[in-house]
Amino acid sequence: MTGITWLAAWPAEAGAERAAAGFERAFYAAPTGVWAAPGRVNIIGEHVDYNGGRCLPMALPHRTYVALRPRMDGIVRCESAQIDGRWQASLHGVAPGTVSGWGTYAAGVAWALRLAGAHVRGFDAYIDSCVPFGAGLSSSAALEGAVAVALDEVTGWGWADDDAGRTQLAAACVRAENQIAGAPTGGMDQAVALRAQAGCALLLDSRDGAAEQVPFDLAAQGLAIVVIDTRARHANADGQYGARRAACEQAARLLGVASLREIADTGEREAALATLTAAGRRDLVPPVQHVLGEMARTDAFTRLLRQGRLDAAGPLLRASHLSLRDNYRVSCPELDAAVEAALGAGALGARMIGGGFGGSAIALVRAGQAGAVADAVAAAFAGAGFDPPAFLEALPSSGASRVA
Ligand code: ADP
Ligand code: MG
Repeated sequence: MTGITWLAAWPAEAGAERAAAGFERAFYAAPTGVWAAPGRVNIIGEHVDYNGGRCLPMALPHRTYVALRPRMDGIVRCESAQIDGRWQASLHGVAPGTVSGWGTYAAGVAWALRLAGAHVRGFDAYIDSCVPFGAGLSSSAALEGAVAVALDEVTGWGWADDDAGRTQLAAACVRAENQIAGAPTGGMDQAVALRAQAGCALLLDSRDGAAEQVPFDLAAQGLAIVVIDTRARHANADGQYGARRAACEQAARLLGVASLREIADTGEREAALATLTAAGRRDLVPPVQHVLGEMARTDAFTRLLRQGRLDAAGPLLRASHLSLRDNYRVSCPELDAAVEAALGAGALGARMIGGGFGGSAIALVRAGQAGAVADAVAAAFAGAGFDPPAFLEALPSSGASRVA
């Protein structure tokens, strides 16, 4: 089938050149350097983070590039190849609620680093990216992560030198996104943008913030991940997210636990479901079934990964999707069509990722099968009258770094 859109990851040199050339056009000077950070997909462990669970994301080879030069006068000026016009503010005026627009993702990081004690005195930045934004692939954290390592280096702060420091940078990015950009976010996206290692998935435990690198050598096992950006963005996603979160909190309260993770750890799953039913809250059973099931699937997937049996992990992805669709009810026709078409074309497993109601899905495929899977998904979308999807091929990549 022709007309399939593959969004290729730029080689680092190409991304660096684009960002540096854009910087020179915008600011009539050379940047001090160019830094980049990746978008991400969550392989498994969906809607468990706010229940104290573990998730297993990986960094995409698709990165956001930031050419940056420090200033001493407290001014922040940002331009982006993806957005018209210049975003500008005085850093002294940046505080929760005082600024708006896309530049808050960059200026917010400067604000958070200053709060932590770094001597950020302003900067000019030019941004260019091959991470599609608003597709649930975390373009926001990619932007924050690249700005964070850039400012860390030009101020001589030095946090990017080890994982403990990168954990601090990730926390600053979360603060920036929550308080300055005004978007609620957990910590998964920023942890991946800063702490991921090539060839590994990052097992993140939301109960204590611990992160573990789990070798995820897709290429060596003859496998690949195809990301399907459905290009669907349904309204009310935020309201539905809030409702699911509230349901989980109510269930935990009724069960007398701090989070549903405690039920998963004790294995008292059936007893918990019976308690909810006896309390007249049958409505809470399906969401709790999803959360507990997803925690178990994430553990099982991680075990298979450690045993080098990734080719046996496909059914867990499919089970995750069915649970998100039927128990948690956060899927949508486009995501369901993408998953079914990918499986029909021979993918080992597939599922929606992210909050739901649009965004992206992933398919685990044998190397060489990606084209056939994309063809099948595109044909299914055309048949259903959906807008054409876009595709990305992904191997687990590394976190933020300097590229020029
Ligand atoms: P996601 O992180 O899933 O892509 P978000 O809504 O969290 O979606 O973040 C997208 C926002 O981040 C954009 O609306 C924009 O404000 C900002 N952003 C991300 N990438 C860029 C970029 N390359 N240039 C300018 N702004 C960007
Ligand atoms: Mg985001």
